[in-house]
Amino acid sequence: MPDVIDRLTVLACKFRDERNWKQFHNPKDMALSMSLEAAEVLELMQWKSGEELQQHLEKHREQLGDELCDVLYWVLVIAHDHDIDLRKAFAAKIAKNEAKYPVHKAHGKAKKYTELD
Ligand SMILES: [Mg+2]
Repeated sequence: MPDVIDRLTVLACKFRDERNWKQFHNPKDMALSMSLEAAEVLELMQWKSGEELQQHLEKHREQLGDELCDVLYWVLVIAHDHDIDLRKAFAAKIAKNEAKYPVHKAHGKAKKYTELD
């Protein structure tokens, strides 16, 4: 039985293939598209903060979900096209982050790993 990553990747690639769009999907433009979709997540939050931001996001929860899915779409197809197993890559990256940010140094601190004592 395919896992969620496999199922979502199949959906994303099917969407692309039905439209014959793979021909346009070079790595640079795919990364650019992913970044633009991430900017659309930011756009939802622009000029708002605190309680106003929280209320705005609650009111626009579906739109936030749509934009997060647009980012995820690109993550999935870029990983697919470059034969990256996101399950393994994600686990490996979390392990790298755990090494960079040991709990005893990073707990409760919003600092880059280079600035941890
Ligand atoms: Mg979008």
